[in-house]
Amino acid sequence: MSDNVVNSVSKTLDKLYGEPLKQLETLIGATGLPVYKDPKSGALLWVDVRELRLRFTLSVNKIAKFVDGLREGKLLYTVCKRCGAKYFPPQADCPRCKASDMEWRETSPVGELITWTVINVKPASFSHHADYVVGIVKMPDGFNITAWVEADPKTLKPGMKMRLLVDRRPGENYITYWFKPA
Ligand SMILES: [Zn+2]
Repeated sequence: MSDNVVNSVSKTLDKLYGEPLKQLETLIGATGLPVYKDPKSGALLWVDVRELRLRFTLSVNKIAKFVDGLREGKLLYTVCKRCGAKYFPPQADCPRCKASDMEWRETSPVGELITWTVINVKPASFSHHADYVVGIVKMPDGFNITAWVEADPKTLKPGMKMRLLVDRRPGENYITYWFKPA
């Protein structure tokens, strides 16, 4: 690959996944580690950013559907047709069974708030925002989504229903996704 191709792929990745990666950064900033506790099992889960980026790099063409979905106001995930594993953010290749035959599905409109944190110390790219809330929402589709939560944190309670929004966010003006109490 030439440098230009590498740059262009890298720009595309930033567009696609810069936002969730930045959100993850803010979680890391708040807790010191890319780790959170799974509320169901109590197990500590490690979120490996670099590993995700590598997978995306290998399959950037196939996940263009994710961008098309955002443009239509839909948040899409993938399901492995061979083993049934579900992926959000979507993956074009299944790390579990190595198949590359994926079905694209639209994420459910409402999930349940598991936990959240208020971000006071912001990354430079988000310094124009007031303090914001990042939450982890359990979706009925079988995975959790980490995203911004548009709400007064004092009103939030574990288990409350959260509606998924896919739209242009004021401030950045690009299409992204976040949650709001349902
Ligand atoms: Zn699979």
